[in-house]
Formats: sequence, C-alpha cells, structure tokens
Amino acid sequence: MRLFRNMFANSKLRKMAGVQSIAHSTPGGITPHLHKSRSLRSKIMAIPIPPHLLIPLQQQQGTASAACVKAGDRVLKYQKIADATDSTSLDIYAPSSGVVSMIQNHTTINPAEKEQLCIFIDTDGKDEELAEIDAIEWQTLTREELLPVIRNAGICGMGGAGFPLPKKMETSSNREIHTLIVNAAECEPFITADQALIRERSEAVIQGAEILQYAINAKHCVIAIERSKGDAIAALSKSISHSSVEIVILDDKYPAGGERQVIQAVSGKELQANKLPADAGIHLQNVGSVYAVYRAVAESKPCISRITTLTGEALQTPKNFEALIGTPVSFLFDLCGIDKKNHAKTVVGGSLMGIELMDTSAPVMQSSNCLIAGSLAEFPDTIPEQPCIRCGFCAEACPAGLLPQQLLSYSRSEDAQQLEDHGLFDCIECGACSYVCPSKIPLVQYYRNSKEQLALSQEVFDTSKGWQARFQDHQYRIKKLKDEAEPRTAIKPANIPSAEEKPQGTFSKDQAILDVAAAVSRVKARRKNVIASSESPAKPIQADGEAET
Ligand code: SF4
Ligand code: SF4
Repeated sequence: MRLFRNMFANSKLRKMAGVQSIAHSTPGGITPHLHKSRSLRSKIMAIPIPPHLLIPLQQQQGTASAACVKAGDRVLKYQKIADATDSTSLDIYAPSSGVVSMIQNHTTINPAEKEQLCIFIDTDGKDEELAEIDAIEWQTLTREELLPVIRNAGICGMGGAGFPLPKKMETSSNREIHTLIVNAAECEPFITADQALIRERSEAVIQGAEILQYAINAKHCVIAIERSKGDAIAALSKSISHSSVEIVILDDKYPAGGERQVIQAVSGKELQANKLPADAGIHLQNVGSVYAVYRAVAESKPCISRITTLTGEALQTPKNFEALIGTPVSFLFDLCGIDKKNHAKTVVGGSLMGIELMDTSAPVMQSSNCLIAGSLAEFPDTIPEQPCIRCGFCAEACPAGLLPQQLLSYSRSEDAQQLEDHGLFDCIECGACSYVCPSKIPLVQYYRNSKEQLALSQEVFDTSKGWQARFQDHQYRIKKLKDEAEPRTAIKPANIPSAEEKPQGTFSKDQAILDVAAAVSRVKARRKNVIASSESPAKPIQADGEAET
C-alpha cells in the first residue's frame, strides 16, 4: 500500500510537469520485430453492414448464452437476442437489423470450442435501432444502480483471453480493491487495435476508466502503456488533465501486457501463481473493455462491435476496423483487398500467441483483437527442430522465471510430477522461449501438449472415480434389496458389512492406495516363495501360487 501511496502522492505535480510514472522492471522478455506500422497508417474505419452476421452464443471463457429469438424473427440493432445463463455467460445483442435465418452450429475462432451454436441474421441494410435510450448521467447513479448496467451490456475481456466482465466484477466486488489497472500494453507483434483506440478516443477511454473505478470502488486508477506508443500516450496525457487517472509507462518488451507482468510492473510486487489480481487488491481490465464500459454507461449502447486489426502482407490496405460482432473474417479480408496468391496463413491474435484459423467464414468475436492474412515470408514453414544445446537463452527470456529446457525434458519424458514441480502451470504460454531458441524447438507447443495431457488424465481419474462410486452404489443397492427380500431368520455372514455399515457411494483414495500396497506385497511374497521353491524342488506349489508348508 505504501508503494501505491508514494506513486500517487505527487500525481498532480507530475501531471503539471507532463511526466508519467515509470514502471518497475520485470524479469525476462524479448524484443521481437513488431510489424505494427502498416495498420496504423489510417484511422479506424467503420465497416459496411455485411449481408449475413453469425453471432456465437459463447464469445468468451465460460458457459454459452441461451437464444431468446428464433428463426424467422425480425430483430433490431441493440435488441437482446440471447440471455446470460450464469455469471460466466453474457447477454448478447443484435449488431444490426434483419431477420434471424437460423440458429445452428458453425466454425468459430473460439479455441476452446471451434464449432458452436450461432444465431444467423440476414441483415436488411437499414441498421434500424431499438427506440433511442437516453444517455445516463452515471455520476448521479449509486454503485448498486451502476453495476447492473455494466453487467448487462454483454462485455467480455477484449485483450484476447475473453474472460467475462460480469464474472471479473463479481470477484472484485467481494474483495477490497485499491487499484484499477487499465491494461493498454499491446506488446505482441502485429496487433494495434488498442493503440488506434487510444489515440483516437482517449477521452472516452478515460471516462470508461473513471466509471469502472467508481463501480468497483477502487481508490486509484492507472493506465499502463509501453513507452514506444508516443501518439497514444500524448492523447491520454491530454485527456487526463482533469482526471485522477494516472499513466504508468512500461518497458518496450514482450510480454509486457501479460496479466502478472503488468501487475508486477505497476505495483512492484509479484502476484503469486495461485492468486487472483483481486487477492492483491487489484482489478485489471483491458482498455478495449474499458471503452465498451464507457459506451454501455455513457451512451446506453450494449457491446455489438470491437476495434479489430486487419493486417498481414497478403492485405493491400491493412487497417483497424470497428467490426460488428458476427462479421465473417473473409468479409473483412475482402474489404482490405486480399491477395489470395500471397496468402499463406490466417492467424487470429498476434504472431506469438495467436492461433491459426482454417476457415475464414468464422465470425469476429469480442476477443478477436487481430486478424492476420500472413504471407509465407511472415509465417515460414516450420523448420525441423534440432537438439537442445543448453544455451540457456530460453531461461533468460522467460517472464515467469521458469527453466524452459528442464520443462522440455520432463515434457518429453511425460514426467507429470517433475512438470508440476518445475512450474508448468505457471507458464503463460507466451512463446518467448520458442522465439529465442537457436535449435528452433517449439517449446511452447510441448508445454501446451503436456498441460492438455495432464488435464485429460485428471479428467480420466475423476471420471473413473465417479464410475467406481456409482458401481459401488449399485452393488450396495442390489445387496440391500437382496437382504430385505431374504427371510428375517436368515443369518448374515459375519464378515460382510450391511449396506448401512458401508460408506454409501464413496471411494476412498487412501483406502485404495493401502489396498494396492497390500496387493503388491502379497505378490512380492508369492514371488519370493516361487523363487525359494524353485531352488528347493521338494516343495510343490499350489494352484494359487502359495507354497505348501
Ligand atoms: S533456448 Fe533452445 S537450445 Fe537453448 S537451452 Fe533453451 S531449449 Fe535448449
Ligand atoms: S512460454 Fe512459458 S516457459 Fe516459455 S517463456 Fe513463456 S512463460 Fe516461460
């Protein structure tokens, strides 16, 4: 807390002098070629309304929403078309007017669930809105009145991870939050959506930050942004002159924008691996989501669009678009003049953490910060990996302080215990280690596979535990029915406990370990006896393996 007090004590003086706070240094990191200038040459453009929109019912981490329209319904812009089913799902709104043509599965760019239910809208080009709603004077609202407005606007984290905003706010509302950090660090190559947003709409961003700060009752609010984003910093500096919001300047390195890296850079404290930002009194929100909060509250407009970077050498005119949620990626590529002969790969996100998209009919979602139509020069074919030469470059680059070469060896030997002990689950999959590896080992791919395998074996373990419990339940029920059906005079065998005496539907892992250990020692004893008997042939062996005495 003292650190934050020091940081903010002279904020007015710093603002008057035009100076921002400098962040603390963080471990590791790399400085890759950024490929950002091409998409920043022009201003953010609104797109023409696409003939079809397909809006996924799950745009974020969490559960899917439930459609509240059906095929044949006419919908207006900003009309609700799906209801949140819990705090990890979102209300979803129509991005334009038209008719719902169908609700069915389609390919999406959600890495967790590639095919999922989408609401298809045949747009009518009229862009007809629901009756105009008056803008809210948010300063007149109480916190309790403001929270549902933000919660119901259908916003999720727009930094790429897509964590639902209502869930994050719920977590923060149960803790004491001293600082709201607006994450404007956009450190991954190719992505410029946040920089374009800030340099053109900094007033709205600052207001969004103030609204969120008030809603979560945070004492301080800072915007963290890298030093190299001069135009965006200048715009923010102008807009914060009458605000208590502070700017913190981060080092230009990747991954400066990782959740833990930003928190450490701003607070000087490392967030423990098993802790949430809210546990440290911090609420972290991407700048795109903060802008969406501004629109939801100050303009009474739910989230139906986002700023998306369209870039890559296969596009003639890369730029940032204000893209409607549900717009097919191919529609946006056509707007930028795609050169299909030069188009080798489509990537969603940046070049280091992004995922390859195989089907460009997939729609833009709230987490789609960047769409790259890459050439072969930008995304060359994978080079065969060479043996590790133990150079240690990967360990130097790792922002999480891990030993990537050790993790590689345990990943190859599938040593789950060592993987856990060496912090596999602290790996943020930033890909910095793979980027610097001279042997071209796709390290991050190994870690992703190991995480998937470990998650799968945990799932299998949980499932088999469930089956065992259900089987035992079934056995006990049969036994109980049989006992009840038997005449009262029947004598119960002394060594079989009744159904009531047995634990119902439980499977004891400790007991299972003891049973296995006992079985192993029995087998060992038998083996010993077999060896002993083979050395003295006079002793015959019984059918069950025990030596006759
Ligand atoms: S950077 Fe590559 S070659 Fe060097 S130690 Fe790490 S894994 Fe091995
Ligand atoms: S991918 Fe994981 S191991 Fe590699 S540098 Fe990033 S955090 Fe470290």
